[in-house]
Amino acid sequence: MPGLDCRCGHRISYGRIPCPDEWLFISDVDYDGVTGAVDAEELYKKMNSFLRCPQCRRVWIFWRGFQSEAEEFLPASPAAGVQAGAPTLPPDQLDSPPE
Ligand SMILES: [Zn+2]
Repeated sequence: MPGLDCRCGHRISYGRIPCPDEWLFISDVDYDGVTGAVDAEELYKKMNSFLRCPQCRRVWIFWRGFQSEAEEFLPASPAAGVQAGAPTLPPDQLDSPPE
């Protein structure tokens, strides 16, 4: 199953459909070209993806699809009540490993 090894050690799997750690986005310019009745599959093809690590909150943006290298972003501040580098979710809320 395809996945990305996050810097924190967690493997973010993006093979599941739908994927709980994958987010889709589209630029405003590209979205402006979408008019009328929307074909979900056509809209999907225009979107890019990012993965959000459920353990450390890093975001990995795939600007040119999953075949290209992802750009890494790390939140500037830890979530309230969370120590830097610590998981943001209790272990029982983290995703189970891919099957
Ligand atoms: Zn991580």
